[in-house]
Amino acid sequence: MRIAELYRQPKTILRGQRVTVSFELFPPKTDEAEEALFREILPQLVSLRPAFLSVTYGAGGGTRERTLRIAARIRQQFGVESMAHVTCTGQTRSTIISVLDQAQALGLENILALRGDPPRGQPEFVPQPDGFAHATDLIRFIRSHYSFSVGAAFYPEGHQEAPNKFRDWDYAAEKVAAGAEFLISQLFYDARDYVECVEYLRSKRGVHVPLVPGILPFLSKEQIRRFTTLCGAKLPDAINRRLDEFSEDESVRRYGVEVCTRLCEELLAYGIPGLHLYCLNRVESARELLTNLGLKASS
Ligand SMILES: Cc1cc2nc3c(=O)[nH]c(=O)nc-3n(C[C@H](O)[C@H](O)[C@H](O)COP(=O)(O)OP(=O)(O)OC[C@H]3O[C@@H](n4cnc5c(N)ncnc54)[C@H](O)[C@@H]3O)c2cc1C
Repeated sequence: MRIAELYRQPKTILRGQRVTVSFELFPPKTDEAEEALFREILPQLVSLRPAFLSVTYGAGGGTRERTLRIAARIRQQFGVESMAHVTCTGQTRSTIISVLDQAQALGLENILALRGDPPRGQPEFVPQPDGFAHATDLIRFIRSHYSFSVGAAFYPEGHQEAPNKFRDWDYAAEKVAAGAEFLISQLFYDARDYVECVEYLRSKRGVHVPLVPGILPFLSKEQIRRFTTLCGAKLPDAINRRLDEFSEDESVRRYGVEVCTRLCEELLAYGIPGLHLYCLNRVESARELLTNLGLKASS
């Protein structure tokens, strides 16, 4: 099923509201780890009744076979909708075409179209000579040559390479004009950033597609500090200070659930179309977060 359609028919009830819940996975590095994902993790994640699962695309396309295979297996083995991410980093146009052809042959219906980060050690993104320079170009290409439902990324605090957040939000609006049917956000921990961005896109740019918050219940201090530094998102001072008080990861993980529960409560009170959980191939935090939010699946 097209994900654009899933956002029109939200099935999960959180705090009395119907929303579309999704989980993001990354492709494990080995076949054994992939089997463990299917045997141990996915049955538990699926039992939380997500509307769809998305599978990331490794920098430079290194995971492309596995990304597509996992997305296809999720549909076949669990009957749950899936979405493959595709990025342009280091990808020629013909490589991207072969990835999209393969996704189509596997029966996938949904693609998250991204530019990708510059390769490690390279300060700027440089497209391949015949590749795509921005996500917008990839979105336009997919929409004019394929029938996938296409989503894209947006950044409540602005993307780190953009001269300012408003310019970046204008580019987010261009992604929608190019054919993105929903946008999923970068992680953030202050609901006001999401609200300001959404208000801007809705009232100043006439964007009316679902603008879905991406939520990361962090697992360790090092991880959340590294992630926020890498993607240029703020880690609010209060959270940063509190992290210093913990001496082991399990307490940090539980604190991550607490922080994200409060964040999601604020977002639900504001009104959101869905929640996209960066679950990092783990179950506990996603389960606890949704339970805290009063998870009920409706038919
Ligand atoms: C939900 C989500 C999922 C992700 N999944 C993956 C993944 O699977 N694999 C991975 O490697 N990375 C992933 N990323 C990270 C993403 O690849 C990086 O954030 C990347 O730096 C930007 O990708 P983008 O698609 O937003 O790029 P773009 O939209 O192209 O934006 C990149 C920069 O260019 C600017 N820009 C955009 N359009 C234009 C234009 N027309 N003209 C001039 N400037 C422009 C933007 O303001 C921004 O600064 C994900 C991010 C999110 C939020």
